[in-house]
Amino acid sequence: MALTQPIGMSEPDQPAGDDARITPAMAQYIEIKAANPDCLLFYRMGDFYEMFFEDAEVASRALGIALTKRGKYMGRDVPLAGVPVVRADEYLHKLIALGHRVAVCEQLEDPAEAKKRGSKSVVRRDVVRLVTAGTLTEDTLLDARRNNYLLAIARARASDAEARFALAWIDISTGEFRITECDRASLSAEIARLEPGEVIVSDALYSDADLVPLWRSLPTLMPLTRDVFDGATAERRLTSFFSVATSEAFGALTRLEITAAAACITYVERTQIGARPPLSPPQREAASATMAIDQATRANLELMRTLSGERRGSLLEAIDRTVTAAGSRLLAQRLSAPLTDPAAIARRLDAVAFFADAAIRAETRSRLAAAPDLARALSRLAVGRGGPRDLAAIRDGLLAAADLTRALGALRNIPEEIAAALKSCTAPDGMLAAELSGALAAELPVYKRDGGFVRESYDAALDDTRALRDESRRVVAALQARYADDTGIRGLKIRHNNVLGYFVEVTAQHGDKLMGAPHSATFIHRQTLAGQVRFTSTELGELEAKIASAADRALGLELEIFERLTASVVAQGGEIKQCAEALAVLDVSSSLATLTAERDFVRPQVDGSVDFVIDGGRHPVVEQALARDGTPFVANACDLSPPKGEEAGRIWLVTGPNMAGKSTFLRQNALIAILAQMGSFVPARSARLGIVDRLFSRVGAADDLARGRSTFMVEMVETAAILNQAGARSLVILDEIGRGTATFDGLSIAWATVEHLHDVNKCRALFATHFHELTVLAARLSRLHNATVRVKEWQGDVVFLHEVVPGSADRSYGIQVAKLAGLPASVIERARLVLAKLEADDRAKPKGFEDLPLFAVAPTLPPKQKDDAVAAAIAALNPDEMSPREAMDALYALKAKLAGKRQ
Ligand code: ADP
Ligand code: MG
Repeated sequence: MALTQPIGMSEPDQPAGDDARITPAMAQYIEIKAANPDCLLFYRMGDFYEMFFEDAEVASRALGIALTKRGKYMGRDVPLAGVPVVRADEYLHKLIALGHRVAVCEQLEDPAEAKKRGSKSVVRRDVVRLVTAGTLTEDTLLDARRNNYLLAIARARASDAEARFALAWIDISTGEFRITECDRASLSAEIARLEPGEVIVSDALYSDADLVPLWRSLPTLMPLTRDVFDGATAERRLTSFFSVATSEAFGALTRLEITAAAACITYVERTQIGARPPLSPPQREAASATMAIDQATRANLELMRTLSGERRGSLLEAIDRTVTAAGSRLLAQRLSAPLTDPAAIARRLDAVAFFADAAIRAETRSRLAAAPDLARALSRLAVGRGGPRDLAAIRDGLLAAADLTRALGALRNIPEEIAAALKSCTAPDGMLAAELSGALAAELPVYKRDGGFVRESYDAALDDTRALRDESRRVVAALQARYADDTGIRGLKIRHNNVLGYFVEVTAQHGDKLMGAPHSATFIHRQTLAGQVRFTSTELGELEAKIASAADRALGLELEIFERLTASVVAQGGEIKQCAEALAVLDVSSSLATLTAERDFVRPQVDGSVDFVIDGGRHPVVEQALARDGTPFVANACDLSPPKGEEAGRIWLVTGPNMAGKSTFLRQNALIAILAQMGSFVPARSARLGIVDRLFSRVGAADDLARGRSTFMVEMVETAAILNQAGARSLVILDEIGRGTATFDGLSIAWATVEHLHDVNKCRALFATHFHELTVLAARLSRLHNATVRVKEWQGDVVFLHEVVPGSADRSYGIQVAKLAGLPASVIERARLVLAKLEADDRAKPKGFEDLPLFAVAPTLPPKQKDDAVAAAIAALNPDEMSPREAMDALYALKAKLAGKRQ
């Protein structure tokens, strides 16, 4: 039933009493708004969501929609802005992206019902849902390829140094629900891994001075009153949502984890208001199960997006060959949380290896491509926001899963992960897909309210009602023919519009005829327009009522069928989710196999050692970018394994001129470790890696400009974090640390950093630097290895070979690179002279630097003076007092002056 009425037509807009000056509708609005003070209120009035007062002003600015006025409140105009209901998603999207929360207030009854209670009564309304960034279910509001998490963070009351944090996160669009615990040091890395759409914390945590900087870096943070994070009631809130007796049903959770989980659940309940998303029971993740990668490292390695924020150019984009949205989400999840258990990694690698066979791969992927987003369709159906197409998505997903099981199940030597996935594919009751297939029509509307989605001959009662409705339409056609006959007006038509319903229409010249006897007994005048006159008749009125009621009844029956099918789907929710996850696993495994075949990747060997041997390694993103221009990528080896007789891994000190390929080499090794541990094959000839439990990557200040925080201070803070945290299993990538300050202190810091990594952290590390002075350290530090990226000098130019070899760069080739970059020849010449002088003196002694006019370089050419002479001549001219002839002469003189000086 459509609850639509033109604005203001259905409700009393006049003040209830002279003194109150508040209309009943306004009073209702104010009450609902007061209950949702921190949300913009979308207040349903007919076909629009209206916003009033400050909400209207905020929305009009944010959405660029018109701000108007409607009525008065306390003697002041009431600002009003509205968005059409049919386009609400679009506007919601914008508001959510800007960090707003929206309370959606619907009409809960037909305006006609309200009228029955008296002319002054207002349509019943209430908020049916809060739309917030972390609780979205609509495809139009979500990125299909990414999870959208709501994250609750709780802290245990302990001293600041040993505070524990519990994180619980839910993607209500897929039902995923997980919990973990961590300490203060890894809190931001955990948040960075999840990239939550919305974070909720208690008021106390929100205003904790230590955490404020972290909170500021989050896109959407919502402080909530203490009761949401109340430990005493947490157990009860969590268990009652899942209808279990005790939280032990979810495994051994700490009290803190239960608190965070309950906060998540309570927030979901508050925002969904009665609707119940199909959440899985919370699953605990041990923090040690995944490689810790902090935010700066993620950004710097461009895992999910580039430094400029785009997916294109990221590692994720370079490796994503998935064919389903769920597969793409799982791939992103795996990439952001590489594993640390060699056995678990091997299981994933086995699954990728299984799809090495091109035929099996092709078969699997064509079937997967037909599988829609089961998890998100299920969630929408469960919370009452589903449509006929969501039912079809469930049907098609289940059919594709059944197909896949048939196709792959017969194969032999199926690895564990694939076998488990195939088993989950058959978890849902096979009859469900059959039932949906039988019920749904071939063409489906988006909204159930549009009707017409139930297949013919599925339901006898529906068929009868539809026949009646269609039959009545034929009767209308017959009536038109009869009226035309009876009146002798050939052009008489029976038409329909939303205001009049069915009516008889004749051209103006025939109007009088129908209004006179004998026809006036049959035709009742309704409307006279410029060219036409419109009538109704008793018979037509009766027929119309019959048609309307048949159509209403047909839609009612369809909606009943919809609810029944939805209930069957939701009843199988757990199994459907299992099936959805299985499809995602098959997609990820087969897509990584596709990537392997396409880009010549190799299976890495991952074990519990601290070895790190890569032969013929390549940078997966740079390689693909170069391939587009047909440029080959130069593969390079890297070996950070402990030298004979030692336990700790090596540090490679990589020198070489700018543009040689140092940064690329450093990153490719980190990316290979990430790929290997997420369970992917890697771009190399061979790779054997001991588990990396923590990865750090930092770039010297000058390279970090893109992030707009390129201060030397930031560089040092981040370096400090690494030196304080890196352990025996860490992998550290330091790229030109110390560059952000003057030569000598930069060199000193780099020097001391290398020593600390070597003697204290004892981790595997790659250190790129342009300070050649550091290479002498290799003589003293047993696990330090000097490597350099080769270049060739050819006729005064530098040629980059991108080849990493043992040894150190003999010099920086800075001047050659500057020349390539197009610095004026005069500057290059002068730089060569200065360099020669510097090199002639003893570089190690600062004294040699003193007599060089380093910062007061004398200009080598006087072009400025020449131009000054011309400029002075021009300045001396006074155009207002010159005759045309004089002006012309002056112009020639100027040209001559310029030409003369140029020789
Ligand atoms: P550096 O850090 O030494 O200044 P980069 O690593 O930034 O140098 O590399 C500069 C450019 O050289 C890259 O953008 C890439 O195009 C090219 N390059 C780097 N490594 C290789 C390689 N191994 N093979 C081919 N081209 C490479
Ligand atoms: Mg570099």
